[in-house]
Amino acid sequence: MNPTYDVAVVGAGIVGAACALEFSREGLRVAVLDKGPIGSGATGASMGHIVVMDDSEAQFALTRYSQILWEELQPDLPPDVEYERCGTIWVATDADELAEVHRKYTYYQDRAVDVEILDSQLLHHAEPHLRTPLAGGLLVHGDCVLYPPRAAGFLLELARRNGAELHLGKPVIALGQGNARLSDGSIFQAKYLINAAGQHAPKLSPGIAIKPRKGHLVITDRYPGYVRHQLVELGYLKSAHKLTADSVAFNIQPRKTGQLLIGSSRQYGSEEARTEPHMISQMLARAAEYIPGVQSLSATRVWTGFRPATPDKLPLIGPWPGDPSVYIAAGHEGLGITTSLATAKIVAGQILGRRSAIPIEPYLPSRKVAEHSHA
Ligand SMILES: Cc1cc2nc3c(=O)[nH]c(=O)nc-3n(C[C@H](O)[C@H](O)[C@H](O)COP(=O)(O)OP(=O)(O)OC[C@H]3O[C@@H](n4cnc5c(N)ncnc54)[C@H](O)[C@@H]3O)c2cc1C
Repeated sequence: MNPTYDVAVVGAGIVGAACALEFSREGLRVAVLDKGPIGSGATGASMGHIVVMDDSEAQFALTRYSQILWEELQPDLPPDVEYERCGTIWVATDADELAEVHRKYTYYQDRAVDVEILDSQLLHHAEPHLRTPLAGGLLVHGDCVLYPPRAAGFLLELARRNGAELHLGKPVIALGQGNARLSDGSIFQAKYLINAAGQHAPKLSPGIAIKPRKGHLVITDRYPGYVRHQLVELGYLKSAHKLTADSVAFNIQPRKTGQLLIGSSRQYGSEEARTEPHMISQMLARAAEYIPGVQSLSATRVWTGFRPATPDKLPLIGPWPGDPSVYIAAGHEGLGITTSLATAKIVAGQILGRRSAIPIEPYLPSRKVAEHSHA
C-alpha cells in the first residue's frame, strides 16, 4: 500500500515548520503533527536572535548559511514576524576580551561576514547606556532578530499554501517503519518521518543524545531606542561552553515593540519549567554590570524554556541509523531559530539526493561524539 504522505513531520516548532515549508516547495505531500499549538516548545520561549557564531567551522557554516536564507526570506516576512536587522555587538570589558574581538574580526572577515571593530568611544556612541569605560566591541552588521513563534507560524502558512496539512493537538507516541502512531491509536503513514520534536526527540527515537538545557528570559516595558543592537558579552561564549555548572551571561535585545528582552541563563538538570528567582537575580545583576540603568527598568514578564542540547553542540540532521524511514532534525540548542532554514535545506537535500551548499557530515546523527558529552 502506498503511504498517504511523502513526509510526516513531528513538531511544529521552528525546525519542523522550516522542514514542512521546504518539502512542500518541492511538491511533496506533507503532514505536520504537533501535540500542542505552533511554537509551543523552545521556539515560543526563545529570544529570536539570528546570529552567526564561530565556535567551530561546522557551527559557522550552518549559522551563516541559515542567516543568508533568512535574509532571502525577509522581503516576504509579514510585519508581525518583527524581523529587524539590528546587528550584534559583542562587548569586550578588558584587554583579553579585546584580543578576542580582534580574533573574531579576522575570522569573520576571512569568511566575508560584514564586521567592524568598535573602540571604547565608538562603543559608547553606539550604545550610550552601556557603562563606561569598556574596552570596545565587535559589531556584526548582518545579525538580526525576529519573533520566533510568529516566524514558525508564517513558515507553516507558506507550507499550507503549498498543500501541507497541519494537525495540532496530536501527540505522537511512536515513530518508525513509515508510521507515526498517535495517542488516539490513529496512524499517519509516510515514506519519510522527520523527528523535529526538539527536546522530546529522544522519546520518539530512543538513543538520541539530546538533553534539555533550561534558560530564563525577562522582558521589560517599552523603552524605544534604549538599546539599539543585540548586545552580548564576550563571556557569553564561556557560559555557553560550560557543560556542568549553571551559568548566566549578559545578553540584551531590542524588540521592535520597544521592549527589551534580557537573558540569559543556562542550566542542566533543572527540568521543571518554573522560574527560579536566584537565576533571575543573577541574570539581572549581570546585565546591570554592563548597563547600570537596567535596574530602574520595569519588567513585565519572566519565563523559561528548554534548549535541546547535544553533547558536541551541533544539531542532529539526517537519517537515523537503523530505520531508513526516519530522519532527525533536532538538537539545535541555543541556535535553532537561526539554523532552522539551513536544517530544512539539508534534510530535503538528503531525501531528494541533492548536493548540499555546505558539508553535512558534522551534523549527521551517525557521527561519533566524544564521551565527555553533557556531563
Ligand atoms: C531561553 C532561550 C533562548 C533562546 N534564544 C535563541 C536565539 O536567540 N536564537 C536562536 O537561534 N535560538 C535560540 N534558542 C534556541 C531555540 O529556541 C531552539 O533551538 C529551537 O526553538 C528549537 O526548535 P525545534 O523546532 O527543534 O524545537 P521546539 O520549538 O521545542 O519544537 C518541538 C515541537 O515538537 C512538539 N512535540 C514534541 N514531542 C512531540 C510528540 N511526541 N508528538 C507531537 N509533537 C511533539 C512540541 O510540542 C514542539 O512544538 C533559545 C532557546 C531558549 C530556551
